[in-house]
Amino acid sequence: MIRFEGVSRRYGEQAAVDRVTLEVPRGSICVLLGESGSGKSTLMRMVNRLVEPSAGRVLVDGRDVAGADPEELRRGIGYVIQSVGLFPHWRVADNIATVPRLLGWEPARIAARVETLLELVGLEATLFRDRFPHELSGGQAQRVGLARALAADPPLLLMDEPFSALDPGTRRGLQVALREIHAETGKTILFVTHDVEEALALADRLAVLDQGQLVAQGRPAALLEGAAQGPVRRIFGEESLAFHRLATLPARSLARVGDADALPMLPADATLKQALMLMLSENSARLALPAEAGFGGGTLHWTDLVTAR
Ligand code: ADP
Ligand code: MG
Repeated sequence: MIRFEGVSRRYGEQAAVDRVTLEVPRGSICVLLGESGSGKSTLMRMVNRLVEPSAGRVLVDGRDVAGADPEELRRGIGYVIQSVGLFPHWRVADNIATVPRLLGWEPARIAARVETLLELVGLEATLFRDRFPHELSGGQAQRVGLARALAADPPLLLMDEPFSALDPGTRRGLQVALREIHAETGKTILFVTHDVEEALALADRLAVLDQGQLVAQGRPAALLEGAAQGPVRRIFGEESLAFHRLATLPARSLARVGDADALPMLPADATLKQALMLMLSENSARLALPAEAGFGGGTLHWTDLVTAR
């Protein structure tokens, strides 16, 4: 879907992005993770040509974006940023309708699309359609920003630290909403964050940037397997690496066959991190896992969890 080929961007002497080659498969959520100033936004903004590469090329669906008309390119790519950027004097419905209007859709089709999108991002249309941006909370505004980015049904979404300004609870709610929207729509999503837990909550694929260079990429579980080294170890935090690794592994991978009667129950798709949290909050060294297609159910034991590698 997106392919960065030996892409660099220099500002004077400094390389903000330094020879990055990376592929974002169609339908995946790929998270670009790195500390502030590591080049995440610069790399992302080369996809919709808000930044031009100094070297290398960026392909979207096999097409070099350098040959595309920037306006047309951007209409086909949803873009969500931290500050949302809703038009303050436009109602929610008009904000969401921005791109469909540019594309000349019929008013009835636009109105129907706005309803669908508000529902998709978890806002009741009758309550929110006619509000102005100043009548929204930060989390609600960010949901509207997401709806606006999805308005013309682009196959690709770029999201640059969209949830970074939100409080932890609101942020988790939006992460869950985004995963659901992704499951429902199959969009390809490139998501930038400096937040390790957010990255692990969202990513099918992780790409770790450090000082403009891609220092690791792959599935989260593979990336944190064993003793991660170098920048990855630093970025994930030396002392919490083992904890973060639990977020990349399914709880059922350690399930035992056993009597689960009266034990606290985990969701079938829980991770080992969720299991640990439930053990702590329920003061229980054993949990139950429900049976699901291809899995007979079972129990999860604290001793297996702490010795898992
Ligand atoms: P991140 O998004 O990971 O925080 P950025 O991609 O915004 O990082 O920036 C990477 C580096 O490039 C930083 O050191 C930043 O100061 C520099 N940089 C970004 N944009 C410009 C610009 N337009 N002019 C000069 N330097 C820039
Ligand atoms: Mg940035």
